[in-house]
Amino acid sequence: MARVFNFSAGPAVLPEPVLQRAAEEMLEWHGSGMSVMEMSHRGKQFVEIASRAEQTLRDLLQVPDNYRVLFLQGGASGMFAAAPLNLLRGGRVADYVNTGAWSKKAIAEAKKYCDVNVAAASPEGRLTIPPQAEWKLSEQPAYLHYTPNETISGVEFHWVPQVDVPLVVDMSSTILSRPINVADYGMIYAGAQKNIGPAGITVVIVRDDLLGDAMPQTPAVWDFKAQADADSMLNTPPTYAWYIAGLVFEWIREHGGLTAMGERNRRKADTLYQAIDQSDFYRNPVDPDCRSWMNVPFILADSELDKTFLAEATEAGLQTLAGHRSVGGMRASLYNAMPQEGVDALVSFMQDFARRHG
Ligand SMILES: *Cc1c(COP(=O)(O)O)cnc(C)c1O
Repeated sequence: MARVFNFSAGPAVLPEPVLQRAAEEMLEWHGSGMSVMEMSHRGKQFVEIASRAEQTLRDLLQVPDNYRVLFLQGGASGMFAAAPLNLLRGGRVADYVNTGAWSKKAIAEAKKYCDVNVAAASPEGRLTIPPQAEWKLSEQPAYLHYTPNETISGVEFHWVPQVDVPLVVDMSSTILSRPINVADYGMIYAGAQKNIGPAGITVVIVRDDLLGDAMPQTPAVWDFKAQADADSMLNTPPTYAWYIAGLVFEWIREHGGLTAMGERNRRKADTLYQAIDQSDFYRNPVDPDCRSWMNVPFILADSELDKTFLAEATEAGLQTLAGHRSVGGMRASLYNAMPQEGVDALVSFMQDFARRHG
């Protein structure tokens, strides 16, 4: 068996020790006589798995006691709807910042439920974040939504906006990549398939004073208060994905927690950006102030070589490097589970490729 370095933006690489442990526990979990997949979600064993996962996540992120942690379905895209449904709380307007493709999708979905004021947008054709001084906030928005890391274009906030209303953030592709201050946010949500675990489970961290005023048409499974009261088990949760997420949280803790993850991730990103910047063959199109640590797009000087680059990279065990279909070029995603060796191998390959084709 040869595992490749998988630079996929999501579903993405998982830590190998997590996969090994899952394999060991696949047929029979801890003397239970069954796999986690086969357990009742209401049984003592799964309840223990679920609550341990939540506790480990709370410890990693130092989630304050007045925040609820939910494990839901529907992905980040589901939360594009669930956020306004739960958090408008009688309000009519929400402010959104548009920094790229995922922001746009969040805005389109929110428009079904409220007036969206786009407080700021990246200028057409530029991969950057408008400074907060230029934002046009509305009078009384229910919340301000933004996308801390735009997975497709590789545009990342390295600062937290300062506003008087709850911040609602789609952290799908950056959660757990470094420490954050949960108390800065009203609601954090993330689809699992980047830095948390397998697709199919969605983490929501929400301040409890924002709960309890969902719009009447809110689907019960997305009613944060109802799910919080039911420990995210209003209906059958994605039990296996929840279990794997718990193993990933434990892996992060065993590897030094979020401070250590942040140091590793910064180093990986620096390695790749430096290699790109030092070459005339490759270019990163993002404003240097908002380059993502997690998703690094890069363009070859000659796009005619894209296909050859991808074919040779695959041959060298460096996979899923094609940029998103909407932007082309290349994109290397460097989530927590991507080791430094993977980035080093990519950089060596890129340098060798440039020498041969430059
Ligand atoms: C992947 C991603 C999404 C979409 O997540 P789904 O779970 O497929 O709905 C939304 N936002 C961001 C920032 C993402 O990276």
